[in-house]
Amino acid sequence: MGVTLKNIAILGSTGSIGTQALDVVCAHPELLSVEVLAAHSNDQLLEKQIDEFNPPIAVLSDIAAYERLRARRTFRSTKLFGGRRALIDAGTFDGVDIVLTSMSGFAGLEPTIAAINAHKDIALANKETLVAAGEIVMRRAEECGVKILPVDSEHGAFFQCLNGEDRRSIKKLLLTASGGPFRGRAQSELENVTVDQVLAHPTWNMGRKITVDSATLVNKGLEVIEAKFLYGVDYDQIQVVVHPQSIVHSMVEFADGSVIAQLASTDMRLPIQYALTYPARIDSPVERLDFWSMKALTFEAPDPDTFRGLRIAYEVGRRGGSAPCVFNAANEIAVGAFLDGRIKFLDIYRVIEGVLDRHAIVDSPTLEQLIDENRSARSEADKIISALEH
Ligand code: NDP
Ligand code: MG
Repeated sequence: MGVTLKNIAILGSTGSIGTQALDVVCAHPELLSVEVLAAHSNDQLLEKQIDEFNPPIAVLSDIAAYERLRARRTFRSTKLFGGRRALIDAGTFDGVDIVLTSMSGFAGLEPTIAAINAHKDIALANKETLVAAGEIVMRRAEECGVKILPVDSEHGAFFQCLNGEDRRSIKKLLLTASGGPFRGRAQSELENVTVDQVLAHPTWNMGRKITVDSATLVNKGLEVIEAKFLYGVDYDQIQVVVHPQSIVHSMVEFADGSVIAQLASTDMRLPIQYALTYPARIDSPVERLDFWSMKALTFEAPDPDTFRGLRIAYEVGRRGGSAPCVFNAANEIAVGAFLDGRIKFLDIYRVIEGVLDRHAIVDSPTLEQLIDENRSARSEADKIISALEH
C-alpha cells in the first residue's frame, strides 16, 4: 500500500503522549509533518518544539503562558495563538489531515468535536472525551465521515485484532490491565499509600493523572466505557483481564471461540504511530519481543471490591446519560486533590461516589448540558474534598 505524507495537529504536544508522538514524527519525517502544536501552560517546552518542528501554527491555551512566550520570542514561520478558543480551533485548519488528541481530561472534548466538525480524522488518546460524550462524539464522527483511530494501547490492540473482521462476530472484548502498583493488596493496605508509591507504575511511564487512574483502576473503567463507544458492544461483552506483564495489549474473542491477541513491548510510540500512519504499517524503533527469553505471560481476574473504580465505571456506563461524564469529572478533581496532598488515596473513591450520589442523571444530554454537568460535578467534588480535609 502506498504511504502518503500526513499533516498532523498535536493537541497536548507537551505531555507524555504528545512528546512521544513527536519522537514518531522525528523517525518518519517523510511521512508525518507537524502542522499544529498545541499545549496548555508549558511555554518553555512548546518553544523548543516550535524551534525543532517549525509548525505553521502553535497554541498555548493558558493565557499567562501565551503572554510569557509572546513577550520572549517571535518565530519566523510559526503563528502563535493564545487562549481556550484557540485550542478549540487548533485542529480545524485547512492543512491538517489528522488530529492527535493528547491533551488530558474533559478539556479535550470541545477541541475534538471542533476537529470532527472540520472533517479531520482523529487519533484519539484523550479517552475522557469518549467517556464524557461517547454518543455525541461517535455520532458526529459518523455524520462527518471521519475516522476515530484509537491511541490507547488496549483499544489500538482491539483495532488491530478486528482488522478485516465483521464486528458482528465479536463475542467478547478482553481488555487487559496491568493491575497497577497495588495489585494483590487489601483495602486496609491502601489507606495510607503515598503519591510516590502511586506514581511508581510497574510497566508504563505515563502522565501523572493517568498513572493515578491506573492505581485506582479508574483508568480501566474509563477504558471499558471507551471500548463500548468505539466498538458498539454491550458492557456484558467487555471483560477485564489482569495481565501484569503488559505484553498482550488486549484480545478479541470471536463467535467461533477463536481469540486474537495483539502483543508488543510496552512502548506507546507503537500505538501512536499506527494511529497516525494507518492503514500503513511501517518500521519503528520499539524494542522487539524475544519469545526465547520471555518469561511467563499470566492472566487473572481483577479485584473490583478493593479497586472499586472499575465497578463504578461499569455502573455509570450501564446507566448512561450524564452519569459517565459526572464520574469522569469527579475523578479528575479527586485525582488533582490527591496529587496535591489534600486527600488520601482511597478518598478518590469517596469523592466519586459522593458526587454520583448527589447527581440527578440527565438522559440523552446535549453537548451544552454535558459541559454544565461537568462543571457542577467538579464544584460538588471540590465541596466534598474540602469536607474530607477537615
Ligand atoms: P500529560 O499530563 O503528560 O499531558 C497532558 C497534556 O495536556 C499536556 O500537553 C498539557 O499541556 C495538556 N493540558 C493539560 N491541561 C490542559 C487543559 N486544561 N487544556 C488543554 N490542554 C491541557 O498526559 P498524558 O500524555 O499522559 O495523557 C494525555 C491523554 O492521553 C489523557 O487523556 C490520557 O488518558 C491519554 N492516554 C495516555 C497514555 C500514556 O501513556 N501517557 C496512554 C493512553 C492514553 P501543558 O503541559 O503545556 O500544561
Ligand atoms: Mg490504556
